[in-house]
Amino acid sequence: MSEDAKSEEDFVYGKVTCFGDKGFISREVIDHYKLRDNPQIWSVGVKEVWQVNEDYAGKVWHTLGYPLLDGTFGGGFVYGMKDKRLTIGMVISLDSKDPNMNPQQKLQDYKKHPFIQEMIKGGKLLKYGAALLPEGGYYSLPKKFYVPGAILLGDALGVLDVKNLAGIDRSMECGYVAAKVLHDALVKGDTSEAALAPYQKELESGFVIKEAYKNRYFRWAFMSNPKLLGQYLPDIAKSVDKTNAWVGMLKVGFKNPFGAPVDGVTSLSLIEGTRDIGPIKYEADCKHIVPNFTAPKYDEPPYDKATIYSRPDAVFFASTKYHEGNEHIDEFNSDTCVKCISKYEGLGKTTPCVADCTAEVHRIDIIDDLRKHGMSLENCIHCRTCEIVCPEVNLRVKPTSQGSGPDFLGL
Ligand SMILES: Cc1cc2nc3c(=O)[nH]c(=O)nc-3n(C[C@H](O)[C@H](O)[C@H](O)COP(=O)(O)OP(=O)(O)OC[C@H]3O[C@@H](n4cnc5c(N)ncnc54)[C@H](O)[C@@H]3O)c2cc1C
Ligand code: SF4
Ligand code: SF4
Repeated sequence: MSEDAKSEEDFVYGKVTCFGDKGFISREVIDHYKLRDNPQIWSVGVKEVWQVNEDYAGKVWHTLGYPLLDGTFGGGFVYGMKDKRLTIGMVISLDSKDPNMNPQQKLQDYKKHPFIQEMIKGGKLLKYGAALLPEGGYYSLPKKFYVPGAILLGDALGVLDVKNLAGIDRSMECGYVAAKVLHDALVKGDTSEAALAPYQKELESGFVIKEAYKNRYFRWAFMSNPKLLGQYLPDIAKSVDKTNAWVGMLKVGFKNPFGAPVDGVTSLSLIEGTRDIGPIKYEADCKHIVPNFTAPKYDEPPYDKATIYSRPDAVFFASTKYHEGNEHIDEFNSDTCVKCISKYEGLGKTTPCVADCTAEVHRIDIIDDLRKHGMSLENCIHCRTCEIVCPEVNLRVKPTSQGSGPDFLGL
């Protein structure tokens, strides 16, 4: 209950704990019981809520790619909400080759597109936030969904269906099934591991795991063929703006008369789950970083500067609040950071933690002529991106405590 527990009253004991976090604690359960052969792979969702002048309530737009035209998997979404509010966001995979991929700035680039500019002009930013999404799907699922005294739910389990950007319904289903199984176990007075087994069985026979299986190759379709996002998509995206998507597709066909049709059919069969290629093996996201990779530039459309926010300015709209002495991110080895900083600076870049942070937390300090890693933790919007992209696996983002952290209400 509290960090400095003094008496029994500071503890709460449960027969079974349900873990429903995005890995802040559940990763320890998964690692301790060696539940995962394949790592979980992650994306980060960055999101803004706007007060706008028109009413778009009920409208939904999902987009793929733009402004990610460097092979990074991801896309955007715009949801019209009641009271003339608009949610604008991007979901960006953290297996990007780019060591300096700044998700908050990618969202600003997305907002510069005329389609979104038209909707937000004259509007007002209300909220900003970021969170991880588990993308590995079926092949990243833990071998067991429960361990002695604990059950894994929702994003902690990793049941989000990235093809349909559907995580809420699946997490709720986990909650319903867990409640039923726990109710039966408590009534019988048996909360042993065997009594928790029906939780996994019921999920496996329901839509949550069946659909995860059907869509098991969705991410792999893009991972296994870098041409889809790195080569074909930029051509199609450019033609959407200039003329028509079909012109882009024809261009792709002319440039790759033999390869493109084969790639198209192969990828579609994986995306639709009509072909079985057996189990797949992922690598941890940070292993995909190519230290000297530089994302290609593209022509920016004209945009209204008042609609675009720098990273430190965006943090203000996340309404973070932390108690004094808060230390919710561990840096394991400071010498590792010194070497990492020197390596990336030698390549004319900054470190992945500094670049990819969705707030303005990681920094490089000069102390005794040495360039060291430092953190402004009071800015942290608690997304865990830095932990995932650190190529040296040198960071751990822990749960916040005593009510501190960003304010997710209204996001
Ligand atoms: C930007 C973005 C857009 C998305 N869009 C969609 C969409 O359109 N449709 C859709 O279906 N899904 C969407 N998702 C995915 C969806 O939000 C998640 O899959 C879903 O919310 C997961 O539910 P959950 O209950 O597992 O976890 P969460 O919703 O993350 O809930 C976990 C809760 O646990 C709390 N918690 C964490 N640690 C602790 C702790 N130590 N102690 C106590 N409490 C703790 C957290 O504060 C949180 O309230 C989106 C995700 C993001 C990031
Ligand atoms: S935290 Fe990771 S990415 Fe950041 S400087 Fe240290 S080793 Fe490099
Ligand atoms: S420090 Fe890490 S957890 Fe905090 S906002 Fe930055 S990337 Fe997210």
